[in-house]
Amino acid sequence: MKLVLECVSQMLNDPKLFCQKAYISGEWVDASDDQVILVNNPFDESIIGSVPACKAIQVNDAIESAQSAQQDWARMSSIARSDVLAAWYELICQNQDDLARIMTLEQGKPLHEALSEIHYAASFVRWYGEEARRLSGHVMQPDGDHRVVVLKEAVGVTAAITPWNFPSAMVTRKVAPALAAGCAMIVKPSELTPFSALALAALAERAGVPPGLFSVVTGDAREIGEGLLKSSIVRKLSFTGSTAIGKYLMAQSADTVKRLTLELGGNAPLVVFNDADLDVAVDGIIASKFRNAGQTCVCTNRAYVQSEVYDEVCLKIAKKLEGIIVGNGLDPAVAIGPLINDMAVSKVKSHVEDALSRGARIVGDELTINGRVILPVLLADVPSDALIATEETFGPVLPLFRFETEQEVIQLANATPFGLAGYVFSRDVSRAWRVSEAFECGMVGINTGAISMASAPFGGIKHSGLGREGGSAGIEEYLEMKTLHFHL
Ligand code: ADP
Repeated sequence: MKLVLECVSQMLNDPKLFCQKAYISGEWVDASDDQVILVNNPFDESIIGSVPACKAIQVNDAIESAQSAQQDWARMSSIARSDVLAAWYELICQNQDDLARIMTLEQGKPLHEALSEIHYAASFVRWYGEEARRLSGHVMQPDGDHRVVVLKEAVGVTAAITPWNFPSAMVTRKVAPALAAGCAMIVKPSELTPFSALALAALAERAGVPPGLFSVVTGDAREIGEGLLKSSIVRKLSFTGSTAIGKYLMAQSADTVKRLTLELGGNAPLVVFNDADLDVAVDGIIASKFRNAGQTCVCTNRAYVQSEVYDEVCLKIAKKLEGIIVGNGLDPAVAIGPLINDMAVSKVKSHVEDALSRGARIVGDELTINGRVILPVLLADVPSDALIATEETFGPVLPLFRFETEQEVIQLANATPFGLAGYVFSRDVSRAWRVSEAFECGMVGINTGAISMASAPFGGIKHSGLGREGGSAGIEEYLEMKTLHFHL
């Protein structure tokens, strides 16, 4: 193990950012019983390090110190809170190369994508640092001798459970608005990618985030989750992950009536109409499908292409996929890294085999799996009863479905319990608008595959979740309203 650790540290400008301890109450700690969880590099399954398997009692320590730190933090001036977030933002930018490298090592995505994620992660810290100074309630119009003022107050101690697919951005998208609003936050990162969250905590500490205000507790998901959820001090949970776990956490939150933000699974449709700019559509499809090896919740899961342009779009995509280099994310030539684990690989395999058995065909390279690395797969003529038409694949497989009419495709697009994102490609503004309105989802990309930015609300409806992150909606999730009634 030692050899491996030295190797990771040697890759960083600042080896101290590779933290193998949990950050609780402003201290870097081991598990109370010294147990650890090993973390691997998904590319070659080598062990890159370990993190403490913290115990329930350590979750309580984090909650208690969060409570006392939060009271002082909420009393500070908004400009002082904003300054701390600005310092954190600067440090993230200064250390972007190390943060990206840590991410690629534990998550697998290509280094250039990891670097983009660090920029995206930093943008939340910057945006909410600025937003901290603009929070306000409102005063209602006088009503007879009644006057009403609405104040905004910090929710208090909050918790976040974050996923492995965006190990940094999903941390800052929650922590930055929480801190800006005057809340404390305890983060339980995915056990598969804890080092990105711990590196961000190390930088937050350097930036002057007070001890206890932001803790990162690593360990068994169920044990840490239970500790956070059963506490009445923790007033809110923000979760990004699978719909199944989201529903479980929602049920577990009922007893203490926690506020919830849930960013859950998706099954995004992408629709290309005959009148689309096909090159723009193809670029949008590739970006939205193959980013992060297809492991994003807003990934295109189903691409519907209108009959007249179906063959042309199929050929253009196949051409773009030719010669794409897959492999170790640390290699600058690599465009698609490995999937996160063997289960993810099995799911891709089963979706492809199922589609082929129902009459779909592969255009271009056959399904080629090398460990956890998979060549992108383009499936044409996929029937609507294929598994891939209803289940989220979370891998580099693009199924193309053929459709005839606008009405038909809207029905197909909405035939899912999920409602996170949808995409439409058309040069007809009226059609693009109509289809966007008809989509049952929280976000629509119109002639673009990119729909995430710090200033815009992100989130879904139906089984894809509750609440929004990003934009001013994102900070409201960490604020309570208090209504004051005055009688003159
Ligand atoms: P995925 O299937 O994409 O791995 P999960 O929903 O399983 O997504 O994981 C997202 C986050 O939820 C991770 O941090 C994981 O550790 C956490 N998690 C999984 N199961 C539980 C649980 N029972 N209680 C609390 N957190 C959990």
